[in-house]
Amino acid sequence: MVEESDFHAATVLSKRHISPSMIRVILGGDDLRRFASCGGLDEFAWLTFPHRDAPLADAPGRYYTIRHWDAAAGRITVDFVSHEGGIASTWARVAEPGDRLGVLKPRFRYVPPADACWVVLLADATGLPAVGRIIEERAPEVPVIAHVEVNSIEDRQDFSADGYHCHWHPSFNHAGRPSRLSEIAVELDLPRGLGYVWVAGEASEVAACRRHFRDTLGLPRERLTSIGYWIHGQARS
Ligand SMILES: Cc1cc2nc3c(=O)[nH]c(=O)nc-3n(C[C@H](O)[C@H](O)[C@H](O)COP(=O)(O)OP(=O)(O)OC[C@H]3O[C@@H](n4cnc5c(N)ncnc54)[C@H](O)[C@@H]3O)c2cc1C
Repeated sequence: MVEESDFHAATVLSKRHISPSMIRVILGGDDLRRFASCGGLDEFAWLTFPHRDAPLADAPGRYYTIRHWDAAAGRITVDFVSHEGGIASTWARVAEPGDRLGVLKPRFRYVPPADACWVVLLADATGLPAVGRIIEERAPEVPVIAHVEVNSIEDRQDFSADGYHCHWHPSFNHAGRPSRLSEIAVELDLPRGLGYVWVAGEASEVAACRRHFRDTLGLPRERLTSIGYWIHGQARS
């Protein structure tokens, strides 16, 4: 049961490809002005995708990252990876200004310890919106090293920030394998000293990354956040 105060009806204001595989949708509308950001840098919300004029709150949904929240204008930016099948990707591919969407109460998982003197972000394309927001809105004195897996090198993005390095890996959905995030994890060297690792992507790859950082490298629980964003071969509901 969705609390009315946790639910917002949103309208598509604009849609465009920001790279070959990423569709950016900007949402607005009167009801979205009530949206209360939770303030977390990997902030995400359950979005509902209605069929024609069906009720928004009951429609099927998926989790998506709030790439940007413009509180003054009451606008949310969401970046959708374009892929075959799936209600969300299909919706984004055909979305037009005026289309409706439901936005539920947001949450976050990115919680670096206060003593972290570096942050490593490891994500496939679905985690790229969160990587971008973390890089742009974090405390600038903490250096960030990001490794992002994309479909092709044309899917790279620039971020409005200093003090970060982003390594791009064009191996997402290549050669019949959805992702090689776990191989990237094994190949990377973590900086010295106390830090924090944040991982997001295909669920089995994220699980393998978690095993590597926790069991092989002995990273303490509070220094690792790992989230399965999607499941290969399975609709996420
Ligand atoms: C906290 C959180 C935040 C997220 N933020 C974002 C975001 O900002 N942008 C974003 O694009 N995704 C994001 N995701 C991932 C997104 O929710 C999933 O990719 C979701 O499965 C897409 O729904 P769908 O209806 O398009 O496909 P589904 O109906 O869930 O799946 C249909 C088929 O497509 C496959 N599939 C799903 N996603 C992909 C993909 N990306 N590439 C290739 N095949 C895929 C499935 O394995 C399945 O076979 C996030 C997930 C979580 C949990």
